Amino acid sequence: MQASYYMNLEDRYGAHNYHPLPVVLARGEGVYVWDVAGKRYFDFLAAYSAVNQGHCHPKIVQALVAQAHTLCLTSRAFYNDTLGVYEKYLADYFGYRRALPVNTGAEAVETALKLARRWGYAEKGIPDGEALIVVCEGNFHGRTISIISMSSDPDARTQFGPYTPGFIKIPYNDTAALAQTLDTHGARIAAFLVEPVQGEAGVVVPDDGYLRTCYDLCRSHRVLFIADEVQTGIGRTGRLLCCDHEQVRPDILILGKALSGGVLPVSATLADDEVMLTIRPGEHGSTFGGFPLACKVAMAALDVVRDEQLAENAERMGIILREELATIRSPLVRTIRGRGLLNAIVIAPANGKQAWDICLKMADAGLLAKPTHDHIIRLAPPLVITEEQLRQAADIIKRTILDFRQ
Ligand SMILES: *Cc1c(COP(=O)(O)O)cnc(C)c1O
Repeated sequence: MQASYYMNLEDRYGAHNYHPLPVVLARGEGVYVWDVAGKRYFDFLAAYSAVNQGHCHPKIVQALVAQAHTLCLTSRAFYNDTLGVYEKYLADYFGYRRALPVNTGAEAVETALKLARRWGYAEKGIPDGEALIVVCEGNFHGRTISIISMSSDPDARTQFGPYTPGFIKIPYNDTAALAQTLDTHGARIAAFLVEPVQGEAGVVVPDDGYLRTCYDLCRSHRVLFIADEVQTGIGRTGRLLCCDHEQVRPDILILGKALSGGVLPVSATLADDEVMLTIRPGEHGSTFGGFPLACKVAMAALDVVRDEQLAENAERMGIILREELATIRSPLVRTIRGRGLLNAIVIAPANGKQAWDICLKMADAGLLAKPTHDHIIRLAPPLVITEEQLRQAADIIKRTILDFRQ
């Protein structure tokens, strides 16, 4: 079947909640994907950083298949012989006392919000119903009603109200705004929720020291510091966690995406006893949360990150990628920015369609990336990319931009 057949099916029978590039993929391996005609591409989106370990990593797939033949789902009505092993694995790997496993990033964010509110009432003594959570403008934390209530993006919010109350929005990368908010409302504030780099906003990297200062401010006001590392975590920015760049240990850590290497929806919220044990049996959960299949897949996926030193590779390859991109001499390129292998080219927005058109041309040339916010192209390949592959890919990007005619 031709690509148009599959695109028409999605168009006719699916909800129109995405606007994909017109490429129909059928297979993936490592940093590459192939379309239905057999054409090969570098995958420079890596499923929004879910595929840090590369497509169909054999060790992760092997863990999936073996456990699929053994036991997939028990629900949490009973104990099973994988969940506790996985929770200990997560605790040791990330340095927290406890983990609460769920499935998607949004669910893990919701878990963090509930933990923060509960902690605010039970431990900090905020009067019931009055807890506030501080969030940043330009954030992306998922798509549930409460999460879009925190958003400042009209596409995410418009005509989805009424919104969940209890959030204060402050500018990102603005420690003075956080200090002022904490001074004014600190007694009612349970938590500050932040992305260490704003991914969906277009790879917005805050100033050095931002995370550390925010963390210290939170500490001095007895406010939980929550890091949404769903996109930035698990090696993507050149450290295991992006917060590691500033030696910040969040009070609540949110993980998703690459936690399974893109094999299953697996997410988790991590914290220590004072926070995690405020939720008691029956007060939160998910049918699939921490199911045996997910536990085995996630442990394999995290083994790969450690054994193949993917954070270290992301750090090295990111430096090379930004050096290569910096050699592009074109009026189209406004800025190049990023950390590790989470990078972006900001395109000078002439008519708002250029980033999309450049992505189409890059696809023709064998590299897939997708614009975010009209004029930003995110470049985030699987972390298993080799230097040779990276230089080839950078060459495609450079040539496409230099040859681009509107
Ligand atoms: C993708 C993402 C989410 C949401 O994850 P889903 O699995 O799509 O629900 C939350 N936070 C950040 C920072 C993300 O990038």
